[in-house]
Amino acid sequence: MRRLNRSHAIGIHAGHDMATTASQPAARQTASPTTPSDTCPGCGEGPTRTIYRVDQIPVHSCVVMHDRATALAYPRRDLVLNVCSGCGFVYNAAFDPSAQEYSTNFEESQHASETFNGFARGLAKRLADQYHLDGKRVLEIGCGKGEFLVELCRAGGCDGVGIDPGYRPERTDAADARRVRFIQDFYGPAYHHVEADLVVCRHTLEHIGPTQRFVADLRQTLGDRPTPVFFETPDAMRVLKEGAFWDIYYEHCSYFTAGTHARLFRQQRFEVTALELAYAGQYILQGATPTARPTHARLEPERDLDDTLAAAEAFPGVVQEQMEYWRELVRSAHRAGRRVVVWGGGSKAVSFVTTLGLNDEIDRVVDINPFKQGKFLPGSGHMVVGPEALRRDTPDLVVVMNPVYVEEIRKDLDGMGLHPEVVAL
Ligand SMILES: [Zn+2]
Repeated sequence: MRRLNRSHAIGIHAGHDMATTASQPAARQTASPTTPSDTCPGCGEGPTRTIYRVDQIPVHSCVVMHDRATALAYPRRDLVLNVCSGCGFVYNAAFDPSAQEYSTNFEESQHASETFNGFARGLAKRLADQYHLDGKRVLEIGCGKGEFLVELCRAGGCDGVGIDPGYRPERTDAADARRVRFIQDFYGPAYHHVEADLVVCRHTLEHIGPTQRFVADLRQTLGDRPTPVFFETPDAMRVLKEGAFWDIYYEHCSYFTAGTHARLFRQQRFEVTALELAYAGQYILQGATPTARPTHARLEPERDLDDTLAAAEAFPGVVQEQMEYWRELVRSAHRAGRRVVVWGGGSKAVSFVTTLGLNDEIDRVVDINPFKQGKFLPGSGHMVVGPEALRRDTPDLVVVMNPVYVEEIRKDLDGMGLHPEVVAL
């Protein structure tokens, strides 16, 4: 594994997903010895204040663990969530980039899901049309396994350059590899010479601590070129309003609402040209172009600062209720002798299980991604199995980690003649 030691270097495309050992206490919402910084890494100002803490959570949740002992002993750190009153940015003030190691040993891809593939295909088609990509070149920063870039280059008839330390060459068809070049590294100053007609960056910004510096670097790299950029980032407004603690984990050190996202780009001399939510409101899609002069908010979703601060204010109470609700739901099912299955073996599952301190209460963790099956969740050590395993150990309660996949999952269960109770986060 390589170690991430350039704090502004950027990493993987994390798509969209504790028990503890008997002697180790579960993650708790308690005071942490860490002293959060009060300067906002999004706008460089503040003031900021703490709205949430979780002690000792696994530093990665998409890392592939080959045995249970290693998964249980996986490194942990504290998470201290701060909100900035000036720009609405939410971030882990205790984030330590040196604890992060991104490598090819990651399984963040959601492309085993037809629901996700449908979304990605639709988006690729849309970007190809909107940016007239025929014969042009796209640079994707944090391209993960490269599935989206390949899709985009097919849809647009363009060439691509994808940069990501977690890229795996064997996951790209030879025919596609002729059109798309992949670089297994972090994007940074070393790649400033890579010119493109469109820069795409999906599910990456939330992994970067110094976001202001990252966007400033990108803006400087583009220089006088009017290269458009397209960013896709998880939306934090929903997380704040729902108290969605399962969407808060160590790899995600930066949390944006649509307005916060746009403010960051405007501050660094981008004109924000499009701003919307997609994928059942879970992702922010933002188009922007470099500009010489300062610009002002003009899009409806940018006016969310008051709403963000109000949601942040209410968050400690809302998240407490959510944690109590889900912990009791799972524990009471287990006490009643029901077999509880978590469906989705990604970051959300790691956060859900470790934050709630669940262990034996979860019988199985299911994931349809074959690259995750037979591997173990960092932190909790649960083994991830394919849906077929449920034929033998029939579930009574299935907790789905993302409501977007409920229909797809029900179909899979029906297909196996299984009819458990299905609930979604
Ligand atoms: Zn700020």
